[in-house]
Amino acid sequence: MNIPKDRSHPGSVRTDSKSVGLYLHIPFCAKRCHFCSFYLVTQEEGRIERFIRSLEIELALSAVQLDRAGQCVSTLYIGGGTPTVLSAAQLSQVLTRIATLYSVTDDCEVTVEATPESLSPEYLDTILEAGVTRLSIGMQTFDQEERASLGLSSTLEEAITGIRVAQQSGLPNFNLDLIYGIPGQTTSSWDRTLRQACEFEPTHLSCYALSVEEGTRFDVELRRGELDLVETDGERRLQVHATEQLAIAGYHQYEISNWSQPGRQCQHNRRYWQGQEYLGMGPSAQSYVAGCRFGNVANLVQYCQRLEMGELPVVERESLSVLQQDKERVVFGLRLLDGVPINWVEANKCDPVWAASFDSFLAGEYIAQTSERMALTSKGRQFADEIGYQLL
Ligand code: SF4
Repeated sequence: MNIPKDRSHPGSVRTDSKSVGLYLHIPFCAKRCHFCSFYLVTQEEGRIERFIRSLEIELALSAVQLDRAGQCVSTLYIGGGTPTVLSAAQLSQVLTRIATLYSVTDDCEVTVEATPESLSPEYLDTILEAGVTRLSIGMQTFDQEERASLGLSSTLEEAITGIRVAQQSGLPNFNLDLIYGIPGQTTSSWDRTLRQACEFEPTHLSCYALSVEEGTRFDVELRRGELDLVETDGERRLQVHATEQLAIAGYHQYEISNWSQPGRQCQHNRRYWQGQEYLGMGPSAQSYVAGCRFGNVANLVQYCQRLEMGELPVVERESLSVLQQDKERVVFGLRLLDGVPINWVEANKCDPVWAASFDSFLAGEYIAQTSERMALTSKGRQFADEIGYQLL
């Protein structure tokens, strides 16, 4: 990978350049859910083997770059797609390759995304042995009708069986992903989903608002007038309900969409919100290193072909100015409930338009200031996307 060594603005990068987060995009799923726009193909064993060979080439090429920069890996996140479409042996092989090629910190967080139905005790035993420390399970909802409407692969019963397997595996840390704003969802069905999720005592919960992305089945249905979406105010009510219920259940909200038990925040995702460096591998994976954002080709065949020729599959690259970097770290940092240091905000006030926008959010009590930090208020968190859009 062509990790840029020359920073466009020497000395301007404030990230912890001695460590990096690795993200691996595994581009396979059993079938595509109706709301999902991630780059993926439906699974096929031949393609998986070729992909793993290519990923190993990419891992080796990138390892040389990180080694030269003296960077170690402090978080690893294997997402997709569905990484657990790979056999436990294939996933372990990838993890072993990383351990061989990279300098990995002793306390490195190693997360694997999974669909609940893909989990079995044998599978988990093998990947825990290989170094996985955290699972992120795409449960989405505990309501069978809502599951069908989202086009999820498993029934509620199959999904619950998978979560029980995770719960009983001895895994110290697992997340459940949930979605609100599903067509037909009501406050009471959302409340049941939240309560059932909490009964499994996950260490972490992510609650995302449904968004209709271009090219998805939901997008097609919406254009045809066949999708009855929850209106914006209703969606905000569901968001507020999650905040209240999860607080009662003892979860601490640390980001707009994320809650955890003490000490169980997702360290990898915190890197994104804190403007720290990450290196993505696999088709369509994105990276942010030394003030430069770059992305891999979103095509499995081209990804494999490029790597088989010994070339890195990077197809897009953008070098951010100091001002862009400063704005982004404020906007992403404001997603965290503890917000950002005041001096990060002050650094952007040389742009008078930006300063006026920011001050109007302060005056409107969407953002609050403490002695050292600026953070979104509970009112501001309901409009986080709109505020972020204006401040970028
Ligand atoms: S399982 Fe996850 S990645 Fe795969 S199609 Fe469904 S939402 Fe997308």
